[in-house]
Amino acid sequence: MSTSGDLFERSKLVSPGGVHSPVRAFKGVGGPPRFMTGGQGAFITDVDGRNLVDYCMAFGPLILGHGNALVRDAAVDAIGRGWSLGTCEPYSLELAEFITRRIPWVQSVRFVNSGTEAVMSALRVARGATGRDKILKFDGCYHGHTDSMLIKSGSGLAEATQPDSAGLDHATLSSTVVAPLDDEAALEAVFARHGKDIAAAIIEPVPANYGLLPQRREYLQRLADLCRKHGSLLIFDEVISGFRVGFQGAAGLYGFEPDLVTYGKVIGGGFPVGAYGGKREYMELVAPAGPVYQAGTLSANSVAMCAGLATLRQLADGSLYSRLDTLGARLDAAFATQQKIQLQRIGSLFWFYLAQPGAALRSLGDMKSRPAAPFGPVFHQLLDGGIYLAPSAFEVGFLSAAHSPAQVDALAQAMLAATAALPG
Ligand code: PMP
Repeated sequence: MSTSGDLFERSKLVSPGGVHSPVRAFKGVGGPPRFMTGGQGAFITDVDGRNLVDYCMAFGPLILGHGNALVRDAAVDAIGRGWSLGTCEPYSLELAEFITRRIPWVQSVRFVNSGTEAVMSALRVARGATGRDKILKFDGCYHGHTDSMLIKSGSGLAEATQPDSAGLDHATLSSTVVAPLDDEAALEAVFARHGKDIAAAIIEPVPANYGLLPQRREYLQRLADLCRKHGSLLIFDEVISGFRVGFQGAAGLYGFEPDLVTYGKVIGGGFPVGAYGGKREYMELVAPAGPVYQAGTLSANSVAMCAGLATLRQLADGSLYSRLDTLGARLDAAFATQQKIQLQRIGSLFWFYLAQPGAALRSLGDMKSRPAAPFGPVFHQLLDGGIYLAPSAFEVGFLSAAHSPAQVDALAQAMLAATAALPG
């Protein structure tokens, strides 16, 4: 058995499913997961010493690639000063100022340790601000594993056929209302029925946890309008899209000013950081300024704050986003004339759907009407050829500053070769 296979057998004895987050178990593609020991630049290295070109990039945080020197230096310096203070410190202040100066609708920000925590907290703020209970979410959008959001979500649950999880608090769940993406009529109907009870609508403005399902701007505008009309807050969950589709995330890209925004991934440069922020009137409700409680022992950990700042500093002038888009355009060109894969892409986020190209897929309904070929064999052929994609058909791919044009061309060639045998 491979070294990875051995390690996986051992892991299964001491951790559920052998992993610490479900998608890592390779259930969506089959076979034992590849155990990795490190990464540098565009490469991730497995326990057998094989270097693979990595398009998963830790599921998004590593927009600069693995081992970026400035981020490493900032983290190492921070460790040298002592790595957990549990006090006021200047590092989170610098990061908060850096963000609030550049994103006008984020007037105040609170750092937490994960995207899930950011979402939990933002929902609490919305309920505190409105005195209402219901939250509107969208079918296929994933917002972390807090109870109220584990309904019709994506990510590791994208292939689930039953309720998203056991053990949920059904009382909490009953205040979650779900609407399909890309459907204005359904949105109107939901607000007509529940509008006066909806504390907030939360959406991934670039849904990227059930494949990549870019939304029409008009649809997002309708959502924003209905929120305003009914006194519901609009929350953009930018855990993936924040600092990724542009420094100001999807809100900046599409020209929206959401009431609250949640961040994760890129904001911590690969360290455990999440954040929620938004308009001052809402953020001032958070303890100790206001009555909405939220706290954390490791919140604003100084190593993570310094790594996050070193990451955002390299992104703030925007030039990297154009470079990444140019890199991504090589994929568009490679797939423009082929017949077996639909490529969907926004900047450095991309997703291959193994079906004939057609109109852009924007909702789960669109995907159901155009079933895809199995992803596992394609994934494994790429893996054998030295390319690592996220191990699920529904996870998006991430380009980074460390990827070269030649590597992206090689990815396209490998995908085309791997799908040549597919039917159709
Ligand atoms: N929201 C979105 C949009 C996400 O993509 C994710 C994680 N992929 C989360 C929330 C949860 O973040 P975390 O895994 O850091 O808890």
